[in-house]
Amino acid sequence: MNSNLNFFRGLFGATLSLFIFIPFLCAQFYGDPPDKTHPWAIHDNNRSQPLRVDPGEVPGSPPSDAIILFDGSQESFKSNWEHEKPKRKKNWRVINGALISVDGAGDLLSKALFADCQLHIEWAAPSKIVGSGQGRGNSGVFLMGETEVQVLDNYNNPTYPDGFAGSVYGVMPPMVNALNGPGEWQTYDIIFRRPVHGDGKVLDGGSLTVLLNGIVIQDGTPLEGGGVHKKRSRPRPFPDKGPLKLQDHGNPVQFRNIWYRELRKRPIEGGTDGKLSFESTIAKRAETAANIRKDAATRKGKEKLLRLMESLCYEEDAGAIAAAEKLRAKFIAQVKIDPDSHKEDIVQVNNAVKYLVKHQRMRADHPDVEILKKIIIDNGWKTRDK
Ligand code: MG
Repeated sequence: MNSNLNFFRGLFGATLSLFIFIPFLCAQFYGDPPDKTHPWAIHDNNRSQPLRVDPGEVPGSPPSDAIILFDGSQESFKSNWEHEKPKRKKNWRVINGALISVDGAGDLLSKALFADCQLHIEWAAPSKIVGSGQGRGNSGVFLMGETEVQVLDNYNNPTYPDGFAGSVYGVMPPMVNALNGPGEWQTYDIIFRRPVHGDGKVLDGGSLTVLLNGIVIQDGTPLEGGGVHKKRSRPRPFPDKGPLKLQDHGNPVQFRNIWYRELRKRPIEGGTDGKLSFESTIAKRAETAANIRKDAATRKGKEKLLRLMESLCYEEDAGAIAAAEKLRAKFIAQVKIDPDSHKEDIVQVNNAVKYLVKHQRMRADHPDVEILKKIIIDNGWKTRDK
């Protein structure tokens, strides 16, 4: 901590005020603490840093953590896909880097099974216009094999809106028609959340967000069961995982550049970001407190004291309280002999004490509150608090 302090002083000059640097160094006593449904403080440095992902070379190309389902090669097709129909006379084909639906070959399933995801897929309806309505350039992207984002040549081809290209089929039309013409490539960027049920209740009905050629056409659309042909779908649980399904609707629609990334877990599935149940929150807070106490055990003096005090923001632990009491008493006894040479440490511990008092982790009438306050007032030091 002291080396950090010196670093900031060097960086900003000796006149740097306490008001500026204390928030950097004491982030753990900074924002509102964890509560009954949030295991993390606001601006909590105990949370993991976001994982690094390298973006693709150009928008649409797979980032470093993408799972590639089709890269344009025959090998990629064979290793990542299987036909749904065991008995068939034809197969889907790979021509010029595109995967092509063949009439009669049946639907295609990814071998990978997955659920919540960001999916990128590009498609092109035949350049030669054949048929109309649902009969022109029809295929489909079925998330988990269950719910269809419609693929259809609707460039100049009206049909029922909840069966339009980019519709959640039978559930919700796209907001707009942003299609390129027949034969041109279209991109879908899809964010999918499956429905989750538990104890006979819908915990999360699931949703789809779709961008067509970079334009939002579905915005967290509720799945309402996922949609079916002609019937109103009813909320139903989805399996834990399923394949991506591409539809053979009799038209030679092409696909390319297919990849997905898994999304972080929602709290209802064990995720620890966001608003959690009381039980999950308490469990996560206890885990964090234990980690901080473990880290405190590797430290000494003021650093150990601050870490133990920090652990109390997450969990009230008798051992940590007693150890912090003892260390703080020792700290005060040491620094009050020559406060000037311990100014930064005293302000830091005082700040932590005030934070714990403010958030009911420490008694306001605890003697240390007054002792530290008095040292600061007697020396005419400024603190960041009014
Ligand atoms: Mg379809």
